[in-house]
Amino acid sequence: MTGQSSDSLILRSIYDEALEHGECYENLRSLCKDVGARLTGSAEAEMAVQWGKDLLTSYGFETRLQETPIPHWERGTLESGWYKDASGKTYKIKILALGSSIGTDGLMRAKAVLAHDIEHLKTLGEAGKLKDKIVVIDQPFDQKLINTFVAYGACWPIRGNGTSEAARYGAKAVLIRSLATPIDDHPHTGSMRYDEDVKQIPGAAISTQAAEELKAALKQGEVEISLEMDCRTYPEGISHNVIAEIKGSEFQDEIITIGGHLDSWDVGEGAHDDGAGIVHCIEAMRILNTRGIKLKRTLRVVLYMNEENGVYGAKTYADEAIKNGEKHVFALESDAGGHTPRGFSLDGPAERLELMQSFSALLYPYGLNELEKGYGGVDINRLKEPYEGITLIGFRPDSQRYFNYHHSEADVFETVNKRELELGSASIASIIYLMDRHW
Ligand SMILES: [Zn+2]
Repeated sequence: MTGQSSDSLILRSIYDEALEHGECYENLRSLCKDVGARLTGSAEAEMAVQWGKDLLTSYGFETRLQETPIPHWERGTLESGWYKDASGKTYKIKILALGSSIGTDGLMRAKAVLAHDIEHLKTLGEAGKLKDKIVVIDQPFDQKLINTFVAYGACWPIRGNGTSEAARYGAKAVLIRSLATPIDDHPHTGSMRYDEDVKQIPGAAISTQAAEELKAALKQGEVEISLEMDCRTYPEGISHNVIAEIKGSEFQDEIITIGGHLDSWDVGEGAHDDGAGIVHCIEAMRILNTRGIKLKRTLRVVLYMNEENGVYGAKTYADEAIKNGEKHVFALESDAGGHTPRGFSLDGPAERLELMQSFSALLYPYGLNELEKGYGGVDINRLKEPYEGITLIGFRPDSQRYFNYHHSEADVFETVNKRELELGSASIASIIYLMDRHW
């Protein structure tokens, strides 16, 4: 058998294994329910490391832990918000501190100011209108954009930098509209960072619904916000990336890394973000192994620690790879949820993009139609600078529902569809097989 026909039979075998004997759904249930939400530095994150090591070992893969420094931030136990409208009536709102935020040191109360985005915030700041205020930044997703990751990217600065920018103009705290697609009452957390030259002030997310309510109240007149948060940052600690590999049959020293991040936020169960990516990659390796599909290169699965609030694990992985003189040819990341696979985006040399696109007829029957130039992923991106010319591939599932759940209490196992998850694992196994075989 030659070329296309043997490739198409191997893809068929990969999908048969995933859909008839798949183990990723049960593995995700176990990670979500038996371990739970697993913020870096928590006991649950350590349990997840053990979970990953035990599972990979049970599949017979050579498995090890790679020590990495980690940041340690905790939400604490106090997290409440209220607003009083112009008529004097008080309403409770759900808040969710942003990762790295400081607490309020007791009950904090101040008048609210509404900013539409970072630029508007700066304009208000220059006019002296943010001093001693609690700034509400209300930048909704652009609903016209078809890919919700693009809408997310456009709003990202309000979460990443909004708190520091407001602090620069003397604000007391910041509440951001959650980076989410629907209007509902789940606040979505996420990482933020403090600029070194500003005084640290608290930053939290409110739900999209609460943002709409606050905006309406501010149209009627003055609004006073009250907040209590006791989150805090602890000294750095130590945790681990979990690494397993299968040696290649021809070029053992050439490494293909696939992975996702083991940590999650501390609300929900980290089912789509990134439990799905973890079980996708473990399952892709299991399928190739079970079906006797040998790769020419060494295949390594990496369960990274700490993507969400620091990316320390991926940095450690890249640093050690360089230190050990490892040769990395390509890497794949699954960190866009467990929804129906659509394709892959590739960040790398033009000939590698052409190679991936040359598989379009083979992949088309499996719904993998988007084979485009684009971003690989936050964790594998750490390999980009040390390995010039490396090929980074991002798994791209359908994006329409991802930001209903992302970083919120709604990101639970029950929102993941078994069949969609299995198709994701098979897609990843297929692209790795094809790239390795025809590289
Ligand atoms: Zn993620």
